[in-house]
Amino acid sequence: MKQVLLPRSLSDLWAMMRDLPDAAVYAGGTDLLVKIRSGSIPSKDLICLERIQELKGVADNGDRIVILAATPLSQLLREPEITGHVPVLVKAVACLGSPLIRNMGTIGGNICTASPAGDTLAPLYVLNARVELASEAGVRSLPISRFILGPGQTALETGEILSAIHIEKPHPQAIQHFEKIGRRNALACSLASMAAVLRLSDDGIVLAASLAWGSVGPTVITCPEAAAGLIGRPLSLDRLTEAAAMVRKAVSPITDIRATAEYRRAVAGNLLLRLCDLKMGNT
Ligand SMILES: Cc1cc2nc3c(=O)[nH]c(=O)nc-3n(C[C@H](O)[C@H](O)[C@H](O)COP(=O)(O)OP(=O)(O)OC[C@H]3O[C@@H](n4cnc5c(N)ncnc54)[C@H](O)[C@@H]3O)c2cc1C
Repeated sequence: MKQVLLPRSLSDLWAMMRDLPDAAVYAGGTDLLVKIRSGSIPSKDLICLERIQELKGVADNGDRIVILAATPLSQLLREPEITGHVPVLVKAVACLGSPLIRNMGTIGGNICTASPAGDTLAPLYVLNARVELASEAGVRSLPISRFILGPGQTALETGEILSAIHIEKPHPQAIQHFEKIGRRNALACSLASMAAVLRLSDDGIVLAASLAWGSVGPTVITCPEAAAGLIGRPLSLDRLTEAAAMVRKAVSPITDIRATAEYRRAVAGNLLLRLCDLKMGNT
């Protein structure tokens, strides 16, 4: 008979993980329990992180924001540290699933699912997020780009959980943008998405650009050459059109029931052109 264990502290969690090394850890269950119920992964003993308060909340650490992994997505939409400093993440969370999914689902679950369509991933890439991985033996930290290894694959090792996400606060004047294309406005899996953090000088020259695309490759695609092509020049439709051509070459989308690879490739470039309208303030 399979069991669901509900630890209330990290020390309880480590003891349970030691006793049941094959158990799956989960948080909101909006990915894992759906897969178990549909039979796409086998039923197993489960350890739920939901009652561990040490894994919930958001903290302002000066130049960084720390989000604890089992924080529900809906809470991120209410936290002043998040709404004030990282609107790019707020925009992504606001269009993830439905209110019910956002109340149950957590940011840690979205990251550990490592879906190419995971909506928080592209924003976390452009925010240079680092993930903190904890086990009974201690804590280690990795850039998110080294944590996500492929669809459904992460660098988590046996006995580890994702405990926190550390984000550098962007420059206060940075333009932050996220857009997701789906087949409808709510409860839609992304066909393509783009996150951007840009800094412009007072006369409109791009000083820094961090760009990332979701749903157009096995993991998030960053296309550094497109970002480099924008830096040091005015943000104009001509420059963005050149960069968009690089993006269309860099992405490797698939055709599935939602969209063709050609459509996703075209949209990935088109999403970049939107930045031309966003030169002032957060959008
Ligand atoms: C109807 C519906 C609509 C959805 N819409 C969207 C959408 O628009 N965009 C989107 O991105 N996603 C969507 N999802 C997917 C899902 O809701 C999100 O990925 C959510 O953030 C998952 O969080 P969770 O806490 O529920 O994950 P869980 O189901 O609890 O866990 C998911 C995976 O992560 C692991 N895990 C969870 N937390 C940790 C941790 N702290 N440490 C180690 N491993 C951990 C689990 O073992 C499991 O493998 C949708 C799901 C449903 C059912």
